[in-house]
Amino acid sequence: MTLQADLKKLYLLDMQLRGLRSRLDGAISRQQKQTARLEQLRQQRKELGEQVKLMQVKASTVEKQSQDMEARIATLRNQMNSVKNNKEYSALLIEVNTLKNDKGKVEEEALTHMTKVDELKKQAEELDGKITEQAKLVGVSETEVKACEAELGQQLTDLTAQRDAAATLVPPESLATFNKLAYRFDGEAMASIVEENRRTMEYNCAGCYIGLPAERLNRLMRKPDEIVVCPSCGRILYIEEELRTSLASSK
Ligand SMILES: [Zn+2]
Repeated sequence: MTLQADLKKLYLLDMQLRGLRSRLDGAISRQQKQTARLEQLRQQRKELGEQVKLMQVKASTVEKQSQDMEARIATLRNQMNSVKNNKEYSALLIEVNTLKNDKGKVEEEALTHMTKVDELKKQAEELDGKITEQAKLVGVSETEVKACEAELGQQLTDLTAQRDAAATLVPPESLATFNKLAYRFDGEAMASIVEENRRTMEYNCAGCYIGLPAERLNRLMRKPDEIVVCPSCGRILYIEEELRTSLASSK
């Protein structure tokens, strides 16, 4: 086979292989995204759990304060029953009233904390629901990856072997050019020639659609062991067999 034919064979196998790989890569990347989302939700849930604990501690501290105040008020009231004069009585009454006032504030604070605890618990419940749903999505994406591997695994192995075999037929220098272009164009290292008008010698590059000088077509036809590139995009040009035969017979 000619260099041009060897390159084209390599190109087609390479593109097929890339297609298969991108299907598998797509499935793997979906799985990674779903797993990352699940991790993120679990982290949020953990932080929320810590917030709940903290708020519960605050609420019970304040509740304890309120109970202490209540006990102190009870003691003061007892003392009020056994005072000897009005002055003492008034002093105790002032203290009781001050304590009652403070206790009211503390109870309000406790209520705010408890309301917050309830809110946080509700958020945590919602998050638990989301985590369950997300875990299901992770499961689905894992199954998809496994199915993809099972379906494509053997094809990938076979195609890789065929591609590698095709690559050994191409001289190292040409192969390096091919690989460089494949890297640059995401696999599309080569482009066919599109015949627009034979009479006026109008031919385009199928890669970038630019018009090609007649000289490139002539070289492709006459020197099948040379690499001919598109002057615009730089892809390696090739002629489909049908066009080559038809052009050869019309001369
Ligand atoms: Zn081009």
